[in-house]
Amino acid sequence: MVYLNGDFIAKDKASISVMDRGFLFGDGVYEVIPVYQGKIFRLTEHLNRLQKSLDSIQITNPYLFDQWLDILNKLVSNTSTPDQSLYLQITRGADTQRKHSFATLTPTVYVESNPLNPKTEAELAQGFSAITQADIRWSRCDIKATSLLSNILYAQQAKQHQVEEVILSRDGQITEGATSNVFIIKDHTLFTHPTGEHILSGITRDLVLESASACGMQVNETPFPVDTLKNADEVWISSSTREVMPITTVDDQPINHGKVGEKWLCVYEHYQQLKND
Ligand code: PLP
Repeated sequence: MVYLNGDFIAKDKASISVMDRGFLFGDGVYEVIPVYQGKIFRLTEHLNRLQKSLDSIQITNPYLFDQWLDILNKLVSNTSTPDQSLYLQITRGADTQRKHSFATLTPTVYVESNPLNPKTEAELAQGFSAITQADIRWSRCDIKATSLLSNILYAQQAKQHQVEEVILSRDGQITEGATSNVFIIKDHTLFTHPTGEHILSGITRDLVLESASACGMQVNETPFPVDTLKNADEVWISSSTREVMPITTVDDQPINHGKVGEKWLCVYEHYQQLKND
């Protein structure tokens, strides 16, 4: 069962107009929200970010908080597994003709929930690989936009290179991953790119920073160059569906001799506690 414009219907019965601007232009925004043990995790934070994305592209939020909560809870209780990933998308809606500029339309709202299977501790203990690439995305990466062409190209590169993530650099400084935020540990301090228009302000990023502080680490939200990434003591990525993952190889170069670091373990364990709060 999925939600589309007021109705809960079978996914294969859900359809939208060919004039929908989401279909024509990728003119829309989205959110991905994890659900643990049937409970939506950090809903307020995700809905606040959704509101920011909508405001940035001048779409009026079609629902109030409680209306979102009703829709999301219905989908959660209809999905068989306790851990899930909610996907919600709002496009500007369907117009009568294809033109770039827009009038006020009725937004199209689509929501689905799917089982979530984060990596097991045994898998995480092996570490993961990443490659680096130039950040070719636009300058409003803070908007969680459905137009994801560059991210799609990166995902395909990751698949071809059999790596977990593509880590991006703009003007020589690491911004984030194609689908995640990036952190390094250097000399006992955590570094990550500051929020702003060049990265998505990850909900998990905030939780990682909170966990790192709880683990007694210094946190420094400052950009760092590609070389520093490759010579870091630890490298991690974070996202709502992947939580916080250790990267132990970057461009075929081992990080921490290819071993998962102790600081990652502390942050990971703290994060697991936050999930149960
Ligand atoms: N950065 C990018 C480009 C992303 O696509 C994502 C998640 O999909 C993130 C960061 C992490 O955001 P969050 O932790 O809110 O899932």
